[in-house]
Amino acid sequence: MPQQSILLTGGAGYIGSHTFVALREAGLEPVILDNFANSHPAVLDRLHKLTGKPPLLEKGDVLDTPWVESVLKRHAPAGVVHFAGLKAVGESVAQPLRYYRQNVAGALSLAEAIQNASNGTPPALVFSSTATVYGDPDNVPVREDAPLRPSSPYAQTKLDVENMLLAAQVAQPAWRVGILRYFNPVGAHPSGLIGEDPSGIPNNLMPFVSQVAVGLRPHLSVFGNDYPTRDGTGVRDYIHVQDLALGHVAALKALLGGNQGFTLNLGSGRGSSVLEIVDAFGKACGKPVPYQVVARRPGDVAEYYADPSKANEVLGWQTRLGIEEMCADSWRWQSRNPRGYAG
Ligand code: NAD
Ligand code: UDP
Repeated sequence: MPQQSILLTGGAGYIGSHTFVALREAGLEPVILDNFANSHPAVLDRLHKLTGKPPLLEKGDVLDTPWVESVLKRHAPAGVVHFAGLKAVGESVAQPLRYYRQNVAGALSLAEAIQNASNGTPPALVFSSTATVYGDPDNVPVREDAPLRPSSPYAQTKLDVENMLLAAQVAQPAWRVGILRYFNPVGAHPSGLIGEDPSGIPNNLMPFVSQVAVGLRPHLSVFGNDYPTRDGTGVRDYIHVQDLALGHVAALKALLGGNQGFTLNLGSGRGSSVLEIVDAFGKACGKPVPYQVVARRPGDVAEYYADPSKANEVLGWQTRLGIEEMCADSWRWQSRNPRGYAG
């Protein structure tokens, strides 16, 4: 039987590239659709090395609906994972229209292309959403039925796309839509060949810590130590990107096996503070990570972490890797590729 093909929009990016490897390992044939707006073509050689054959690539823009339609017709994928989009909260406040175009119009373009290309049975669709749709939650752990209070244009665009896809599914019950709300993805493939390669100054904790540890930056700024948490620093649910990749495989398998759709948190269910991450990273790289405590970052929440039990019930999925593995694998990637894919 020919392998089922899975189209990955944004498949050259951080989460997409790890999911690519996991899908090939699961016996599926992923196809990358990417315009390299936020990724490096060098990832393709690494994926070749990791999986033993060159990746299939469709280079172009997800906003180009007729082209996406032609890609869908060419590959007739059984499933599509929509990773392509922009993801920086602060940038979305400064450039909201760009975020609405890339995230909302991008998903609309893909959905229209799917509608135009499929006769009868559209491919199963998995969408990369985010825990930021919950805003500042009333309770932790956060369940999927918690109030949705997006507090940035980024989070709002993700919620808008969730609602658009659910409405499409109501109108056309043949659509199978899996919405995955990621908590804080970190880490890298244990080979050290692929990992997160942010451009410019990293916004997120783990890539910043990694760059301090490798000597690219003098110290980490810890954004506040007066939160009502166990050590005063912010608490988040970090999820190893390898576990996240397996969550996508499980979601696709469920939809391909007849599940009609779901909205699920993908997280570990455990919170870690900034100082706990700093400490674990110091152990992973063999030297303490220098830091200074500075003022809180505007808009930050004290603490949130997932209740991931629904994903376990629906997909039989749960995380297996902890912060030791997240830090060790981030360090292996960063120390072998100090400047990311560029060398
Ligand atoms: P990433 O930037 O590494 O990957 C996104 C990929 O999409 C890149 O390769 C980029 O070149 C591509 N892309 C962007 N716009 C495109 C377009 N118009 N046409 C074709 N390709 C395009 O990001 P990531 O961390 O891998 O995140 C993937 C998805 O997961 C995003 O939608 C993001 O919002 C979501 N998400 C990420 C996080 C996180 O912390 N990384 C958390 C929650 C949700
Ligand atoms: N953080 C920090 N210094 C940094 C980046 C992040 O202290 O340079 C803190 C931030 O305040 C939060 C946690 O680390 O408590 C995770 O931040 P990140 O931006 O990685 O994720 P998010 O806030 O989007 O959950």
